[in-house]
Amino acid sequence: MSAIDCPRCGRVWYDDDVKAGSKRLCAECVRKLKERRRRPWRLDAFAITTITLCVVSVLFIALTALWPTILGVLLLGYGLVLLTGGLLGLGLFTGWWYRDQEDTDWSVARWGQMLALMGGACAMASYFALR
Ligand SMILES: [Zn+2]
Repeated sequence: MSAIDCPRCGRVWYDDDVKAGSKRLCAECVRKLKERRRRPWRLDAFAITTITLCVVSVLFIALTALWPTILGVLLLGYGLVLLTGGLLGLGLFTGWWYRDQEDTDWSVARWGQMLALMGGACAMASYFALR
């Protein structure tokens, strides 16, 4: 048995094979790297919602460019609703005003961030239709 340093996680592990060197990936890191290679990007609910909202927003902005007087106000309203909802969600889950943000669960808070960004983009785009 000999001690081996894992260059990825820094853990020391033990192996009988001394000749293979003292710096090698541990079994855990090898497994994680293989897993990541198999699934580089997951199509989960968040990804689907983001893509859908992106498509809807881009279509909305394109239509507003065609009929600015009719759709400009609607785009502004849509943008502000998303922006407000997103910011409220983000504030709630990151806890801006009542706790440390270190332990923010970004798997939840990213929804607010995504909605706020999307809404902000629509609200800004409506400016060019309404000015
Ligand atoms: Zn490791």
